[in-house]
Amino acid sequence: MQRDLLWYLASKRLRPDHDMMDPTVVDLVERWNALHKEGRFSALNVREYWRIKVPEIYSPQLNCNCLRITFDEELAQKLLFDPLERFMCGGDPAQVFQMVKQLDTPPSLCGRVFKNGDPTYGCRDCGMDPTCVLCAECFKNSAHSKHRYKISTSSGGGYCDCGDKEAWKSDVFCDIHVKGQMVQQSQNPLEKLPPDLTERIHLIFECILPYAKELLTYEVVLSIPKDLEIRESDREPTNLSSLYDIRDTYVTMLYNDETHTYDQVISTLERAIECTHKDAVAFATSIDREGRCIVRCSSFQQCSQTKSLMEKQTSRGGGRPLKVQVMDTYIIAHQIFASRLLTWLHNILESAQAFRLIFSDIVNKDGGSIVENIIWTDTNMWKTARVQWHRLFISGMLMDQESKKLFARTFTKHYSKMMKDFILDDHDHSVSVASLGVQLFTMPTIAHMLVAEEDVLARLLNTFLSECDKKLRDNKLALEHRSSNTSSFRRIQYILYDLKYLLGVKPEIWTDDLRRGFLHGYSLLLRLLGMMQGMDPMVRQVGTHMEYEPEWESAFNLHIKLAAVIPLVIEWAASDRIVLIKAYRLLMKSLGELGTEATRRRYVRELLDYSVSCIEYDVSSAPVSIHLPLSRLVAGLTLHLDRYGLNYNSPEFLVKGKPSPEELMEPVLRTQVMIAQVHAGMWRRNGFSLINQIYFYHNVRCRQEMLDRDVMLLQIAATLIDSNEFLVHLLNRFNLMNWARDDYEIIYLRGNDEDNMRQTVVLVEEYLQLVMTVVAERYTPGIGQVEEEDRIKKEIIQLLCIEPMPHSVLNKALPEGTNHETGMEKVIDEVADFKKSSGATKGYFDLKKAYYSHYNLFFYHYTREEQSKSEVGQRARKKAAGEEECCPPPVPPPFTVPFTMIVNILQCDVFLHIIKTVLKRMSETKAQSVSESQLQKVLHLIGYALHEEERYHRNSDPYFHFTRRAQKINLLALLEGLVGHHRTSTHKDLLAWTIRKYRVVLNLSSDISKPAHETEAVLASTSSSEASAASAEKKRRAVIATQRKARIMAKMASMQQNFIKTNETFFQETPSTEQPVDIPESTPMDLTERLPEDMIAIGPRQTLAQPLDVTYTCILCHQEDAVGQGDGTTGRPMVLGGLIQRSTVLSRNRTCHLEQPENHDPLLLPADLHWGVHTSSCGHAMHAQCWQKYFDDVVTKERRRPYRFRQNLSFDIEKSEYLCPLCESLCNTALPLLPGVTYTAATIQSQNPAPTKSTIPIAEWLKGLHTILKYKTVVMSGVRPDEEGSHQDDVQIDQTPQRGAVPTSGVVVAHGTVSLPATANSMGTGGSAPILVVGVTGGGGASINVGPSLLRQVQGEGGLRGRPPRWPRLPLNKKHKKGVDGKEEEEDYSSCAEGIWTPPTLPTVAVDLMSVSSPEAAEAFTDLFNNPAATTMPTFPSQTSDMMSSFAHAVYMHGLGVNPNFSSRRIPLMVWDTAAYTIHTLEETQRNASRALLTSLSSRQRDCLAALVKFAAHVPLCVKKKQNIEGAVVRLLSVLLEGGETTPCVLEWDAFSILVTLSLGLPSVFPNIQGLAIGSVQDLHLLQVCFLAHLVQLLLTYEEQSTCTEMKVVDKTSETNQESSSSTGNGDAAWLASLLVHCRTLANLPAVNVEPQNLLDYVKESCLPFLRCCGLFFHFLTEVPAPEELQSSVWVPESEFYCLLRYLGLAVNHLKPTFSDPGLLELVNRWCSDSRVGPLVTGAGSEGCVRSWTRINQLVSLPHDYSELINTVSQFPCPASSGDDSRTPTMCLVCGKMLCSQSYCCQTEFPEGSHQMVGACTYHAHHCGAGTGIFLRVRECKILLLSGRIKGCFVNPPYLDEYGETDQGLKRGNPLHLDATQYARLHTMWLSHAIPDTIAHTMESNSSVLATEWQHL
Ligand SMILES: [Zn+2]
Ligand SMILES: [Zn+2]
Ligand SMILES: [Zn+2]
Ligand SMILES: [Zn+2]
Ligand SMILES: [Zn+2]
Ligand SMILES: [Zn+2]
Ligand SMILES: [Zn+2]
Repeated sequence: MQRDLLWYLASKRLRPDHDMMDPTVVDLVERWNALHKEGRFSALNVREYWRIKVPEIYSPQLNCNCLRITFDEELAQKLLFDPLERFMCGGDPAQVFQMVKQLDTPPSLCGRVFKNGDPTYGCRDCGMDPTCVLCAECFKNSAHSKHRYKISTSSGGGYCDCGDKEAWKSDVFCDIHVKGQMVQQSQNPLEKLPPDLTERIHLIFECILPYAKELLTYEVVLSIPKDLEIRESDREPTNLSSLYDIRDTYVTMLYNDETHTYDQVISTLERAIECTHKDAVAFATSIDREGRCIVRCSSFQQCSQTKSLMEKQTSRGGGRPLKVQVMDTYIIAHQIFASRLLTWLHNILESAQAFRLIFSDIVNKDGGSIVENIIWTDTNMWKTARVQWHRLFISGMLMDQESKKLFARTFTKHYSKMMKDFILDDHDHSVSVASLGVQLFTMPTIAHMLVAEEDVLARLLNTFLSECDKKLRDNKLALEHRSSNTSSFRRIQYILYDLKYLLGVKPEIWTDDLRRGFLHGYSLLLRLLGMMQGMDPMVRQVGTHMEYEPEWESAFNLHIKLAAVIPLVIEWAASDRIVLIKAYRLLMKSLGELGTEATRRRYVRELLDYSVSCIEYDVSSAPVSIHLPLSRLVAGLTLHLDRYGLNYNSPEFLVKGKPSPEELMEPVLRTQVMIAQVHAGMWRRNGFSLINQIYFYHNVRCRQEMLDRDVMLLQIAATLIDSNEFLVHLLNRFNLMNWARDDYEIIYLRGNDEDNMRQTVVLVEEYLQLVMTVVAERYTPGIGQVEEEDRIKKEIIQLLCIEPMPHSVLNKALPEGTNHETGMEKVIDEVADFKKSSGATKGYFDLKKAYYSHYNLFFYHYTREEQSKSEVGQRARKKAAGEEECCPPPVPPPFTVPFTMIVNILQCDVFLHIIKTVLKRMSETKAQSVSESQLQKVLHLIGYALHEEERYHRNSDPYFHFTRRAQKINLLALLEGLVGHHRTSTHKDLLAWTIRKYRVVLNLSSDISKPAHETEAVLASTSSSEASAASAEKKRRAVIATQRKARIMAKMASMQQNFIKTNETFFQETPSTEQPVDIPESTPMDLTERLPEDMIAIGPRQTLAQPLDVTYTCILCHQEDAVGQGDGTTGRPMVLGGLIQRSTVLSRNRTCHLEQPENHDPLLLPADLHWGVHTSSCGHAMHAQCWQKYFDDVVTKERRRPYRFRQNLSFDIEKSEYLCPLCESLCNTALPLLPGVTYTAATIQSQNPAPTKSTIPIAEWLKGLHTILKYKTVVMSGVRPDEEGSHQDDVQIDQTPQRGAVPTSGVVVAHGTVSLPATANSMGTGGSAPILVVGVTGGGGASINVGPSLLRQVQGEGGLRGRPPRWPRLPLNKKHKKGVDGKEEEEDYSSCAEGIWTPPTLPTVAVDLMSVSSPEAAEAFTDLFNNPAATTMPTFPSQTSDMMSSFAHAVYMHGLGVNPNFSSRRIPLMVWDTAAYTIHTLEETQRNASRALLTSLSSRQRDCLAALVKFAAHVPLCVKKKQNIEGAVVRLLSVLLEGGETTPCVLEWDAFSILVTLSLGLPSVFPNIQGLAIGSVQDLHLLQVCFLAHLVQLLLTYEEQSTCTEMKVVDKTSETNQESSSSTGNGDAAWLASLLVHCRTLANLPAVNVEPQNLLDYVKESCLPFLRCCGLFFHFLTEVPAPEELQSSVWVPESEFYCLLRYLGLAVNHLKPTFSDPGLLELVNRWCSDSRVGPLVTGAGSEGCVRSWTRINQLVSLPHDYSELINTVSQFPCPASSGDDSRTPTMCLVCGKMLCSQSYCCQTEFPEGSHQMVGACTYHAHHCGAGTGIFLRVRECKILLLSGRIKGCFVNPPYLDEYGETDQGLKRGNPLHLDATQYARLHTMWLSHAIPDTIAHTMESNSSVLATEWQHL
């Protein structure tokens, strides 16, 4: 409904002033003007007018269709808006608007409000924070598009920050908005406005706003505000409007909420208002979008009834019912008008600044009472009403700095109330007024103002705390999991986001107000943290397990939100000395207040000479918590004290109850000890809650404010406590005081408690680890002398030491700063090399060699898995490089001054005592309390001490002297004593390193002259060579491959085992046919090397070799069997798993679809290949019997599975799908493996070395064919139109026709009847109605009697009016009922529209041929069909025949998508079609990859095609009735040789498909003769005819411009070739040119200028695909080895052209001789003179014919830059709902159509009448891709694959970022660019029909619990 103002203004200008105005309006405005002059005009006048006019225009009508309520908007404009505008402007609105607009400086702020799904762009280089975003328009025109931008999609509500100086560090303006900046804001535009105009605008705005507010929040639904009521007095005698009558018109209004699901709402509506499902969906969609919807408009009683019905239904089960109201229609009218007014106002505000200033003036009057009012009533409104107000605030106030401040103040004042309303509300945050917080608080000046002047921090926190107070238990927050008010606590946490926004930028200048405001908020934050300190405490469970898992997630969720705030608080506090001191004092006080008597209890612990007063506590029995935010805040603040010359002991911090250093670290230490105990297995009974908490404590998402702060705090404590005492405190807390005693082992042995000992060993390890962390982890700025970048570098080095990582993985493993930045980009190039992606693997980062020496094995962020993985990796790397196999500690950076004290730990007595204890016990064989890990850690600690001493030595600082102190414990001797000890073997290299290092350091003190760096060099662990790294990677891959292989083998073995088990009897019965293994397997292709170049596949010169047996291994029983002997008896029958799918992939005409598969005549493929059936196979062979068993098992298993689990399957058992047992490829049939066809022929040839092949000339052969046609019989029959729909062909399954169904009429037409076929006879006698028989040539004796109209029907002479019939809809003879009956006739013929065609017998033809030609010709012709080579049939075992019929039927059923019908006459035709289509596909895939015909064919492609072609050759053997074959062949011959109106013309056939069908069918054309295609001379002739037909197609569609560049290039490069063939080539060119003229003349086409050479080039290029198809077909049919050139790695099209001519037995080097026979010219004449040819050639689009014969279908071309793509869809409206944006715009990559996916609005019932709704993609895929689809979900950047209605998957999009990674769902947001390789891969997948298989594999590999309902996408 939003009106664009520009349009609006334009329309204004067009309208003549005044004349068009309604006279009443003129009066009205004049009246108002008069009142205004008197100063008496007020809102009341306007309301008085609206009172009557608004209900007139906007009332819904009684019993109207609620889905299509429309109002007369034109009238509304005239009567309602015109007066407002005219009065407001005091004249012509258009002029005034123009004038006001001109006062405006061009806008320097964009402020475009985002809708849900709009793309937004942030800049990582310039954005102040991640909320600063640009709209697409500004982004495109800004400098940021060249920066590191981030793209994401808006969830609605925000606006574009372009031009906001506080949002961008640089490039604040885009090119559009910079113009606004350049013009100086001279003065307030209001001052230039005439005062009268300002006043009028004021008056109107002041009138609109309260009205809209009142009406949109109107709560009393049954009556209307008093002053808007229609009164009795309004009834004028002249006014007949029903408005004033007493009325009973109400509406039932249904509201949106977030608790009820779509489906609940839909089903409620279906029942309550009894609407259709479709309408209910429409209602639900509208409710979801608008927030409410009128569902009934009726009497009060009816509306109330509906209301209570809906409430009852939706409150079932005790839930809150849906909100339903019965409302007065007048209220509705006013509400609709109010909403229109807001839109009107919004547009006006957007148009000019003056309007905005006036608006701001009004709403901020009286301290913002209007704003306040609206904020307070926000949750009383429905969704769209709220959004309208919010939009108004944005357009009216947020564009201007001063107004924005005013608004921000009002907003802050009412924040608390607003949030409390929001908690109780049930709408999303994004439609709450509270969501405007982000717009205000992210602006630093406003934020600082609010903190200083409005106490915003305290307001926010108080609101939050008031909610927390409700959840206190023992003064701690206790968040229950499933309590009823968790949702309110979840909602209140939005406050924490606002808090984060406010603190986003720290102030540069502090004022006292700011300090006060900040510290007030801070003190409340401390209260909150105090509530969290120690929350969710855990007590170690002993004895029994925990009964239930305690809740932990809520606390962590709260932590994560606070963790974003706390660093900002620290940053603020640290930026001002006064604030810092006060904050630290407050913190110490808070901590002090938490202390109790119990926490102060001490006892004394003694070790060596040290007595330490320790805090009494036992972690293993008392409660411990992970949540210690107050303690951690101490760590955060303490780090900044030094900057102001402060420290913990400064007098400023002397406060009562200030905790001592021990007390400070105590809580943190307890947590550490608890975790250590968990590692020691002491907390096993505490369940997963604890494990999860510890996991997150360490995890990158939480650790910054957990683990990291804890380590910091311990390090701080270590500087404050004496080192010896510190270590004792730790020891005591770890409960290791006893362990540290020298006599521990002896005392322990007496106790003999093994469990305890194992725990102690681990605890010591943990203790050592903790000490090491405190001493060695120094990569925190403030602790070590490092910068932030060093910290990141360290993290990256440690991560890459685990393994090389892709960018995304690395990025995820790094902690994010407040700006969602990891800082990785700044440093990554320094430490790592990026290895580009290759093929399927992502690009990844590899650590630079120099940095391996930085590797710290005990890095504190490592998980245990990462630690061991990295250690294994690094040791392996060193071993490969021939280095010591150990990872000694790296040199850490030096501590900062305040932390220097920590190093003292490494030389203190207790430390030395501890390492001595470990080393000594290590050397005692019987000591049990030590471990290798302890030794390793101790050695590391010594290493650190030595590093440190070295550093101190270099600085000539005598303070640290480890070696001297270590003499006390005789450390060197201890270490040397361990060398060679069996317990130290794992770490012998490390031990050696330590001793060596020790000696070096020792020498330093004595030998000062030695330069230090030399020793460093000795010790520096250099990294390995690149070669070794590469070989490691190779090895890794090899290992993976081996593992994979092993898995598959294991799977196979187990499968085989199971299989043999279940088939035990079968295997015992079957004699083993295993052959000796050493016989080399050979396939026909192996012969190529030995054979001469000129192989010829067909014709009289055919090269034949004895086909060899091919042996297959059954993947199920692992036995081998041979297939291939002519008799087919050796070996048991075998099959390949196969997949048959309908396809439109090759379609050259996307407007054409196969609409009625039930009636489709598959006689031949259409020239545009708009549909076809593709067969594929994974090439895995199985015994037919094994397969059957396997398949039956699958079916039984699936049938037993509960229905609800079936949805999840990757295969659809209802469509007889299954997965290949070996490779899990999708299959839906089994393709029988049959012997070759040339077996007999080859045998005969080898027996008669001089073959006496009688080659029949093509002319004679054609005569023979014509003779067949001459004597054919055609019985036309048909069904009545009303019967047509019953699809009898496909419904009846193996059902013998009912005898009673005797046809009432029928007709037999014979062109020639030598002897009438039996069928015709039987019909003649069986039919009760007269049967008409026509004899054209009086040969037979049958009586002939035919009506003339009937003849026309058959011959098609004007039988149909108008446009000639279009292929493929063959004319149906509808006027006559079926005339077929018959004892042996089956139901199949009932719908055989094209009639029953019967050939004559061979003798008949021979006799006739003899008379018209010669006896020799007759003999030769007879021999073609009679010779033993072609007619010796293999005898298949019955099982093979069964498999054959079953496969043939599967092709029919799956290919057409029809019901089973084993006797359909279309079965053999479908098999031949699929063979042709599959060959076409393979040819295109090869050509697409620029490959020669047979180059790099995979074995699965080869096996599949070989089996398919052989099967197609044998298909006549397995059809139920051979007459079907005969009939089809005769029909096809008639199409080819006779033509006629009823058959498709030459431009409508696919010439190759005719060739396939005729080659395979013609040998069986005669009754009683079963023949095979063997590549005989007949095949050659057929090829000649079909090739000629194709040439005619090419010539007819030739366009001079289409010069074939590719061939030309080839010509130029091979000059000699051209020279030598120029004479012949020219001959061809001239011949083709004359043929072209000839054809075009016949077709009545205008003459064209032809350059013969161009024409020849064109023909050679264009007919190559046809020849390639023929090559493939005859290669796999005859098994004649192909010349090497067809398999060469370089594809030279022209030479392949000649090569194929030779291979196909055609005239080599020129075309003309092949077609020189006059008989062929006659055919050309017939084809071209068809009256339809001309119009087809000249026609365009779907009316035209195929023109580009070589085009390979591509997926739609996508823009290079992804943002371009997403911008184009940002405005894509849902086609089903008017004007609304689609949420999931999805593009079909096949045709480019944009769809509104995964949305109720665009679901369609499919199949019609099934009551099943499918999504837009599924529906589209059905038509566009015959059920298979490939889509791009644009907003999420995901590729969606769909197949077979219920299956689908997502795969990687072809868009990659600079790191070669995809970004599904735009989670990373990096700029994405189209990757041609990836897209080509998708294209190949689509082109090779691999989508269903890809889906099956993907679904199989990730079986998620939650099934996606793919059909709804
Ligand atoms: Zn913008
Ligand atoms: Zn801009
Ligand atoms: Zn930028
Ligand atoms: Zn088997
Ligand atoms: Zn397989
Ligand atoms: Zn839609
Ligand atoms: Zn499409």
